[in-house]
Amino acid sequence: MIEFINVGKTYPNNVRALDNINLKIEKGEFVAIIGLSGAGKSTLIRCINRMHDISEGELIVDGVKVDALKGKEIRTFRQRIGMIFQSFNLVTRISVLKNVLVSFVPELPFWRKVTGIFSKDQKIRALTALDKVGILDKAYVRVDQLSGGQQQRVALARTLAQQPDIILADEPIASLDPVTARQVMDDFTRINRETDMSIILNIHHVEMALEYAERIIGVREGRVVYDGKAEDVNQDV
Ligand code: ADP
Ligand code: ADP
Repeated sequence: MIEFINVGKTYPNNVRALDNINLKIEKGEFVAIIGLSGAGKSTLIRCINRMHDISEGELIVDGVKVDALKGKEIRTFRQRIGMIFQSFNLVTRISVLKNVLVSFVPELPFWRKVTGIFSKDQKIRALTALDKVGILDKAYVRVDQLSGGQQQRVALARTLAQQPDIILADEPIASLDPVTARQVMDDFTRINRETDMSIILNIHHVEMALEYAERIIGVREGRVVYDGKAEDVNQDV
């Protein structure tokens, strides 16, 4: 479970990005965070895995007080949380399979990741994740040979192979065309149904959020202005 208790975040330039956030997100929920650009969606998501520090309040993830973690503890904690970005954040000049392997074999030095000394079990785990998002046939293709939608699926497979408790996705479909965006949202839906991972994504496309997510959190000027079921949302949130 993720719990925000009176969380505030002020950036060093004095921008107040989050103000008095109180939220509870249970295991297995599929949540979309919506709001205008600059509302604080990205900051909210990035506090959960400590990409950003909070300024006040408490943030607790599966019993861990996230704001109190230090150094190596942060890295260990992050292994339990998958992160998907708008820009995919893949290593484009190596194969799809290697990109996925790197996610859960992080202790290897970089040269070994690139030259590829992995066990059979590790490869099976990575290939299984690729199969789950329908791109097993691309395992040995270099990432830069793939379309944007395929790259986002590689990112999703990489996250799945990591076997996290939570998937955070920061505008995962913003750079995709509508058809591909739907395929990626279908992947999220299936993953949410088949596993007990919580999925929390930022999305500025309100219709897509309402169509796919179970719960909608509306953010405006750093505050939660709506929190409820997608089917109850009044379109002018
Ligand atoms: P959203 O994801 O809803 O577009 P953000 O969380 O990115 O909103 O931004 C919220 C506010 O915080 C905005 O005013 C933005 O300019 C500001 N902001 C975001 N990141 C930083 C940063 N690293 N330093 C300073 N201000 C930031
Ligand atoms: P995205 O939403 O895809 O992360 P943004 O354009 O919102 O991209 O932000 C890009 C980077 O710039 C992020 O690291 C964000 O934290 C930072 N940033 C955003 N707004 C500001 C700001 N007003 N001042 C300083 N950094 C910012």
